[in-house]
Amino acid sequence: MARIELNNLAHRYAPGGEYALQPMQHVWEDGGAYALLGPSGCGKTTLLNIISGLVQPSEGQVLFDGVDVTHRSTEERNIGQVFQFPVVYDTMTVFQNLAFPLRNRKMAEDYVNRRVRQVAEMLSLTDVLDRRARNLTADAKQKISLGRGLVREDVSAVLFDEPLTVIDPHLKWQLRRKLREVHEQLNLTLVYVTHDQTEALTFADKVVVMLAGQVLQVGTPQELFERPAHTFVGYFIGSPGMNFMPCELSGNEALVDGERIAIDPATAAAASQNGGSLQLGIRPELVRLATEGESGLLLKVDQVEDLGEHQLVTGHFGSHQFHVRLDESEKINSDGLRLVFPVEHTLLYADEHLVGAGG
Ligand code: ATP
Repeated sequence: MARIELNNLAHRYAPGGEYALQPMQHVWEDGGAYALLGPSGCGKTTLLNIISGLVQPSEGQVLFDGVDVTHRSTEERNIGQVFQFPVVYDTMTVFQNLAFPLRNRKMAEDYVNRRVRQVAEMLSLTDVLDRRARNLTADAKQKISLGRGLVREDVSAVLFDEPLTVIDPHLKWQLRRKLREVHEQLNLTLVYVTHDQTEALTFADKVVVMLAGQVLQVGTPQELFERPAHTFVGYFIGSPGMNFMPCELSGNEALVDGERIAIDPATAAAASQNGGSLQLGIRPELVRLATEGESGLLLKVDQVEDLGEHQLVTGHFGSHQFHVRLDESEKINSDGLRLVFPVEHTLLYADEHLVGAGG
């Protein structure tokens, strides 16, 4: 397995044209599971193809374990790949398909046998090992593709390009979990492209959030939830995403339409140095109802949706739309709710960027 380093990496498809990838500097750890997440056109596939060697970057280097592989072919980089659509040999059995990458590298047959069975077991393919691939469903074929990508232990990394696109929605959940387990057992460096946040958050140790050719944040799912580094990350991760409201600073308080909201003093101090246009950000899940005697801010309620375990309240403060996610047991006054913004969850953004430590 390899540590992947992107050293001043950038890419333009045409000389002097727009950057498909803005210059970036990153180190992805050996054995980590990384998800590249972002909307269509943000550069995920370009970055994956640069790592695999399908695209030569116009600037910078790709290093595997400190070795510059920028000008090496895909084959020389020694990587496993899984694509959107199944790549299987229809006339071969499932066993033969899984064994192919190993036999191709002339591995000993008893090792091939052991390893194929191990991977088949992890992906629940054991029962169909002797079946011809052509007789199987599209879901099973894609599981074979996943297995073929994962079967070699001597690869530098395994790259996945939206591998669950063709999978039936009710099986996706199962397979996402499976991939997570497989990663824990096999200790491979994995890079996984998706535009689906649930897929990224279930699968990855670290999520790389991209927008318009830029990496906005590399963080654990928890970091992305608790401290999004950029307003887009806050908005993109979560359902619904983070609430943002333009504000001004007055000492250790943010003023939103004349209402005062307490801010962590260190954050307020950092924001006062910053001078950019400020927004207050808070997650719908991290706001709470004021208890009796507590003042709180009055949210005018527009809509309450019952989501089973939760209720999603959509309302507004002045002209700003705002979402709150509350437990099903909470009593909701449909005229208005008094809300408390816990100081530890109330974040400030200056010109879209998180203010304060770790931001
Ligand atoms: P999607 O999720 O739709 O696949 P993506 O995030 O993978 O999108 P890329 O396909 O990497 O994004 O595209 C990034 C940018 O580079 C886009 O503006 C796209 O139009 C451009 N681009 C991609 N491939 C090429 C190419 N072969 N030639 C020129 N421009 C390209």
